[in-house]
Amino acid sequence: MKLEGIHHITAITGDAPGNVGFYAGTMGLRLVKKTVNQDDPTVYHLFYADEAGSPGADLTFFEYPGAGPGSPGAGMVHRVVWRVASEEALTFWEERLLADGIASQRSPGRLEFNDPEGLGLALTVSAVADQPLIAEHPEIPGDLALQGFDGVRAYSFDPDRSRGLLQETLGFTPVAGGSFEARGEQRGGFYVYDDAPGRGIPGAGTVHHVAWASPMDDHEAWQRRLVEAGARPTPIIDRFYFRSIYFREPSGVLFEIATIGPGFATDEDRAHLGESLSLPPAFEHLRAQLDGILTPLPNPRRDLVKDVSR
Ligand code: ZN
Repeated sequence: MKLEGIHHITAITGDAPGNVGFYAGTMGLRLVKKTVNQDDPTVYHLFYADEAGSPGADLTFFEYPGAGPGSPGAGMVHRVVWRVASEEALTFWEERLLADGIASQRSPGRLEFNDPEGLGLALTVSAVADQPLIAEHPEIPGDLALQGFDGVRAYSFDPDRSRGLLQETLGFTPVAGGSFEARGEQRGGFYVYDDAPGRGIPGAGTVHHVAWASPMDDHEAWQRRLVEAGARPTPIIDRFYFRSIYFREPSGVLFEIATIGPGFATDEDRAHLGESLSLPPAFEHLRAQLDGILTPLPNPRRDLVKDVSR
């Protein structure tokens, strides 16, 4: 039983319209699902990914309207790293980000920057043969686009506490530089610790959790294995687009194991993913009420793209 790298990463935004502008505009990802937080349906849960809404490329945000900025600390993921194809791609992104007012730090094979709310991001020249997971955007050539996640960096006071669970229970492999890799049949993803600067403050621009991808058939067995390892996972929760188990790894980072299906095309035509508000059946009765509560958002493919026909 192997985890297929990262399924999705979920962070917090206090500014949903600005978040759509940055991730679907500047970064060129596709808004593949506009739905509500299933634990608080009065606020959005926004999903950005590649064209198909694939696990491995899915960055999601809970909207906490007006939330103050958080700061990452022990037990929190502090940087999300995507793959790109080449140094040429890094140059493209360095210039594109600067044009949108985002400064970045370039080093060989790597570009680091923060999103407008302070969330740590990075691009790295891909060293693996995993299928690139790319979104279409009229301003971003496919060979320069983001290709899905390479991994995440987390803060810990004592990473050794996590080693047993990561390696023995979850099957992560230690690799050079103190990193771990979760690699399955199709994809892999890295998990790396940095020394924690202190305790964190959850808030806008911080990561809520990271989800690892499980084939559909393995999911119940993962839940049992975590129970047996004393990791105290939740029961399996049906999130409609996938099924989820949550638990904290010993360094304090909230982990999820999510199924690779059924996926985002389960309630929307693939050509129109994310354009209208999607509500899982259990929340459909709230639609009329939510229309007046949820923050109005731009439709990225209609409103955010500069007119390239001119
Ligand atoms: Zn999640």
